[in-house]
Amino acid sequence: MKKTVKLLFVFFAAFVVTALAAASASAASCGPDAPWSAWSDTKPTQTANMAVEEATFYSYRTKSTTSSSSSSLDGWTRYDYAVTGYGSKQGPVTYDPSGNDRKVTSERYVTSSNYKTVYKYYHWWDGSSHYTVAWSQWGSYQYKQTVETDNPLELRGYSSDGTPEYKYYYNGTNYWVVYPEGTRQVWVSDNYATRYYYQEPIYTYYFYKWSEWSAYSQTEQTATSTKQVSQKTMYRYRYTAHDLGAETVMTQPTCTKTGLSARACKNCGDIITKTIPKKGHTYKSKITRQPTCVEPGVRTYTCSVCKKTVKKEIKTVDHTYKRVVVKATTARNGSIKSKCAVCGKVASSKTIRRIQTLKLSKTAFLVNGKVRKPTVIIRNTNGKDIAAKYYTVTYSNAKSKAIGTYTVTVKFKGIYGGTKVLTYKITRPAQVSGIEQIYEKGIYFRWDKVSGAQGYEVFISPANANEFKKVATQTNNRLKNSNLKASIKVKIRAYVVIDGKKVYGSFSKTVTMKPFK
Ligand SMILES: [Zn+2]
Ligand SMILES: [Zn+2]
Ligand SMILES: [Zn+2]
Repeated sequence: MKKTVKLLFVFFAAFVVTALAAASASAASCGPDAPWSAWSDTKPTQTANMAVEEATFYSYRTKSTTSSSSSSLDGWTRYDYAVTGYGSKQGPVTYDPSGNDRKVTSERYVTSSNYKTVYKYYHWWDGSSHYTVAWSQWGSYQYKQTVETDNPLELRGYSSDGTPEYKYYYNGTNYWVVYPEGTRQVWVSDNYATRYYYQEPIYTYYFYKWSEWSAYSQTEQTATSTKQVSQKTMYRYRYTAHDLGAETVMTQPTCTKTGLSARACKNCGDIITKTIPKKGHTYKSKITRQPTCVEPGVRTYTCSVCKKTVKKEIKTVDHTYKRVVVKATTARNGSIKSKCAVCGKVASSKTIRRIQTLKLSKTAFLVNGKVRKPTVIIRNTNGKDIAAKYYTVTYSNAKSKAIGTYTVTVKFKGIYGGTKVLTYKITRPAQVSGIEQIYEKGIYFRWDKVSGAQGYEVFISPANANEFKKVATQTNNRLKNSNLKASIKVKIRAYVVIDGKKVYGSFSKTVTMKPFK
């Protein structure tokens, strides 16, 4: 297969050279000035760039006529004949020779005659009144009268001289006596027959013949009785442009050299060659060194055909900035940096102030039968509240009303880090403190108010014993008693009432009160 192709190329190349030489010498085969083909009655198959013209062509032949006495003429066709004369008269014949175009005449003719015997008689007459029978008897009679009869007359007798006398007919006066004079034959009728004469016809024969058909030409011909016309459509064509066939590559272009292709014109067979541009290198590239943000890379182009290589620098790439967050905690500031992940270059940096304040709004609540819990206060070093989105707050028991210690876990997120557990208490009323003896008029002693306390129970005991008794329940923080006689020990506790029951704080320290002096 490969070998065949190669051979074909060699052959084709030789052909191209020849064709090119021929083409340059001859007139344009295809193009605006290309000549028309000869006219043909075959309609050409339309191809590209073919102009076809059609025209009506005529051929004719003419009819010649002639006549002859001969019934056939070489090369002529007899189409008619006529009798144009007759030969000499022939006959007679007794039969009717009619037919065969003969001219026939006939005539009747007498073939024989019929006769009868007539009996002849005579007598003499004197022209007036005397009749006699025979001249010899009556010589003075001058007029001889003759009588003829078809039948013999009756014999009357004989005259004196012995002549037989015959009585003829009576004329009113007398009978004639007539004398025989013999007989004679008298014509009665003729017998006829027909006889014929004829003349043989002299024929004239008419002939025609057609001439040879004329060569077809564009001269219009009209048929007549003596002219036959044949017409046909003729075609001619010319090629207004080449119709180039498939391209055959003669010389393959390379990366750096042009090639040559040839196309044969389907119309005229001319070979049109064309330079095939050089292909240029077919580079395939590969990055042989990746660029970074600090160092250019290298792209190496290798021609897959000729293996030539070209190297090109690849520009350094942009820094791969990433947002790097160092979370701020209670212990240190954090930061948000835009930092190149490759080379570490910092494009921007923003400090996140550390969490300076992290506390509960209150750490202790006096039990009061209601839910008691603190809020958290979280501020940075600027004294600004840190937005709630940066932390979650979890109460160990957010709904508790009961006395106890509870935790609040603050867990930072986002740009803040760390977890802090804070505690608060729900407590009994506080231990009463600040008990002091007051020597003002009417006041026995007082104590500091206990936040939230609803009242106070005051217990006293003799100073030398330990027998405390509740002596008063006060809603304020003082107790009047101006009649103290001996020293006493006092202890006080605060209370709140929850659900009808008192909840007490711790007793205060025992304080010894002395009577006024
Ligand atoms: Zn052509
Ligand atoms: Zn190449
Ligand atoms: Zn970088």
